[in-house]
This record gives sequence, C-alpha cells and structure tokens, in this order.
Amino acid sequence: MSRRTVTIATLKSRTSARCLPWSASDPMAAPQSLSYWQASTPPFAAGEQGRVEGDCDVAIIGGGFTGLSAALALAREGASVVLLEAGRVAGAASGRNGGQCNAGTAHDFGALAAGHGVDLARKWYQAHVDAVEAVGRIAQREGIDCDFTRCGRAKLAAKPEHFPKLEAAHALLLREVDPNVLLIGPDELSSEINAQGFHGALVQTTSAQLHPGKFGSGLAQAAVRAGARIWESAPVDMLDRSGRGWKLGTPRGSLRAKQVLVATGGNSPYAPFGWFRRRIVTVGSFVIATEPLPADLAAHLFPTRRNYVTSRIIGNYFRLTADNRLIFGGRARFALSNPASDAKSGAVLEAKMRELFPDLAGVRVDACWGGAIDLTADRLPRAGEHEGLFYAMGYSGHGVQMATAMGENMAKVMGGDAAANPFADLSWPAIPGHLGKPWFLPMVGAWYRLQDWLH
Ligand SMILES: Cc1cc2nc3c(=O)[nH]c(=O)nc-3n(C[C@H](O)[C@H](O)[C@H](O)COP(=O)(O)OP(=O)(O)OC[C@H]3O[C@@H](n4cnc5c(N)ncnc54)[C@H](O)[C@@H]3O)c2cc1C
Repeated sequence: MSRRTVTIATLKSRTSARCLPWSASDPMAAPQSLSYWQASTPPFAAGEQGRVEGDCDVAIIGGGFTGLSAALALAREGASVVLLEAGRVAGAASGRNGGQCNAGTAHDFGALAAGHGVDLARKWYQAHVDAVEAVGRIAQREGIDCDFTRCGRAKLAAKPEHFPKLEAAHALLLREVDPNVLLIGPDELSSEINAQGFHGALVQTTSAQLHPGKFGSGLAQAAVRAGARIWESAPVDMLDRSGRGWKLGTPRGSLRAKQVLVATGGNSPYAPFGWFRRRIVTVGSFVIATEPLPADLAAHLFPTRRNYVTSRIIGNYFRLTADNRLIFGGRARFALSNPASDAKSGAVLEAKMRELFPDLAGVRVDACWGGAIDLTADRLPRAGEHEGLFYAMGYSGHGVQMATAMGENMAKVMGGDAAANPFADLSWPAIPGHLGKPWFLPMVGAWYRLQDWLH
C-alpha cells in the first residue's frame, strides 16, 4: 500500500485554512483532507501484506476505535481475530475528531431523564463516564503514548440567557448522577477562559483529552501484539451466511468467520450495510489547527487547558494540544466533508476563532480537515445484534470514549455477556424517508440556525 508521508513542517508552509488532500486507498471512499492528528502520527506498519484468506473466530469490519478496541479485547481473550479496514486504521472519524474524551451523554441529561426516566438516563450517563475510564485504562495498560490528560470539559454559555440553563443542568447533574461538576459564573469566567462572548460555564471535571491519531495507531499495534491480524485497504463488499458463520469478501480475498462485528460507522457505502445507513444521519464536522501558541498566550487564553464546547446547537468545540496548538472545530456548514468543502468550512471556522479570540489575530492556521459524524435520531448509540451480525455505532459526536468502550463491551457481548451492552434495550427504527443519503441536511441546518437565533 502506498503511503504518503506528510509532516507537520509540510502543513506549516500552507496558508490559512487550506486543506491538504489525502487520497484514501479505498476507491469508494470520498477523498479527504489530512488531519493534523494523522500528519503527526507515525503510520501503522504492522498490517498484513498478503491476501485475505482462511478462517477465524471473529471478523471485525472497520478499523476505527470501535473495531480496534474490540479486536484488542477479543484477541486478549484468546479468540482468533481478523480486522478488515477499507482504508487505513483510524483513518475515518477516529483519526479526524476533536480529541475530546468527554464524560456525559451527547443528549442533555434532563431531556433524557424526561424522555426515558431517570434510571435509564443515569445508566447511559454513567456509561459515558466509564468510557472515559476505559480509554485511560487501555492507554496506560498498553503503553500508548497519546497525551491522555484528565483536563475536564467546560460548556460555555454562548448567550446570557443560556447561563440559567447551565445552572439548572448543574443542579440536576449534582443531584442525580455526577458529583464532579462545577458551575462558573460570568464574573469568574476569566479563571477558565479569556474569550469574547461567553457568559459562564458548566465544567465536568473528569473528562479527558488525547491525540486520537496516536491513540488509534497504538490501539492497532496493541491488537496485533495480542494476536489480531489487520488488513488495511480491504473493504468488505460481500457478506454472506456460510454454514453457522459468515463469508466475507474483499478485493484482496475472502475469509470465513464464526462471528462478525460491524464497526463501520454509519455511512459505509458498500451494499451489505444498507440497513445501518438507513438508521444513521451522517453530517460533516470540520476542524482547524493553529501553529503552536506561545506558552504565555496559551496560559492567558486557556488557564485551565480544558476541552471547551459552546452552548449553541451549531456550536464550536476547541482545546489545546500538548504543544499548544489550538484545535478549533464545529459544524461550520451543513455539508459533507471533502477537500473543497473542508477548505470552505475551514475559512468559516477561522473567522469564528478570530472573533472569539482577538488575541489570535496574527496566529497562523496550519491545517484544516473534516469528517463524518454518525448521528442517531435520539443521539444515543446503538449496539447489539441484527440478523446474526453484531454491531456498535451511532455515537453522535461522543465516540472517542464510547466507541473505545463499546468495542470492549461488544467483545464481552459476543462472548455471551449480553449485560455488557448498556444500549441493548433501545429499539432502532429506520429514519422515515432516509434511504442512506441525507438529502434533508440543508433543511435541518436551516432549522438549527433558526433555533440558535431564537433561543
Ligand atoms: C470532525 C469530527 C470531530 C469529532 N470530534 C469528537 C470529539 O471531540 N469527541 C468525541 O467523543 N467524538 C468526536 N467525534 C466522533 C468520533 O470521532 C466517532 O464517534 C468515533 O471515532 C467513531 O468510531 P468508529 O470506530 O465507530 O467509526 P470510524 O472511526 O468512522 O471507523 C469506521 C471504519 O470503518 C471502515 N469501513 C467502513 N466500511 C467498511 C467496509 N465495508 N469494510 C471495511 N471497513 C469499512 C472505515 O474506513 C472506517 O475506518 C468527531 C467526529 C468528527 C468527524
């Protein structure tokens, strides 16, 4: 497989918000820009080189955090494991995200409790807290050097009227589920962040951050050390029952497996995965990375170096890296990711970043990229078994921790421990009118913009 080596020095020479194209090795995959994380991670070099063939206990389709974590857990239990990845390991969402490893559900806890009852809401919230633990535990046990840090997450009130909502959320979380939350009033906010236009914050202190490229590559290496075999550039385009197991076909050959885990995220373009595509809406999310900020400027702007998210529906997320780059992301535009789209979104993000942080006026943007977020209708993950295929996906922007944890959990489920799946009882109907391509995104975008303006 040809690998294109792009160093940070290469990225640095580029002008603001231009995106460096990166050709996926899978011809069906949309072209993508290189993420800062991918550019700063040595390539995974322990993949299988020969044809895909033979038999195994478990075949895993997809080499993001879900698939890699499952491969590691299953191989550690002694199963013979094959992982088939269409492109490169951690080359899709898992290598392109904001690197925020946050405790707490994607959906507001109060709304979850109102819709499903407080016990279920508590169980799902706790699953996300445990998932952060799982990431830290795996990174430490496997010696993965990925800058994992318990930094906490600050949700920033983007309008004065959002702060009372954060106050109410703080009281509810403290009472029902999480003792590790703090409320920061508008007058104290400069102890957390020095930016324009925020009016207080709700801080969840056990959230963490990491370098997702290094974590993904480290997970893949750990899985191989434990005995798993990984094929990159091996998209599964055929999946058939074979006796009591499965036959999987790829352009690099085929194999038989007793069990299969679908860990493709929600928008795998291949025929066998249509059932999943109709249940997940894929939206683009975009990110820019600045050059390293001077240490005194970084300390002034971000004294507590947390993960930050804003309280708007179409909001932003940002954080510093270990070497003081600002990673600044957001929905920016309701569009899917490709190099041209990433560049347009990068320009929108850059303007927003400079508006929030006038002190960054002279700071260069070194990289911009985008990726696909797999949203379920209720923003809760889905995992379980469909017609004999195991699956986990739909983390709705909270997959750095949940994908990693659900990979481990699904390894247990496949070994017979059904209780290991906290999302087992959720039904998963197809989204009406959704045949796999999200034609309705512009309308959803307009609706969300209106909501942000009104509330
Ligand atoms: C821009 C962006 C920012 C984000 N920020 C955050 C964040 O800060 N915090 C957070 O918690 N989450 C964030 N997320 C979400 C998070 O990255 C994902 O939820 C998580 O990585 C999903 O992992 P996964 O393994 O399920 O899927 P993926 O990482 O998408 O991996 C699926 C893999 O399956 C492969 N595949 C697909 N079809 C096939 C096939 N037929 N055969 C073989 N392989 C196949 C793909 O090539 C891909 O590598 C962000 C996502 C994006 C895009």
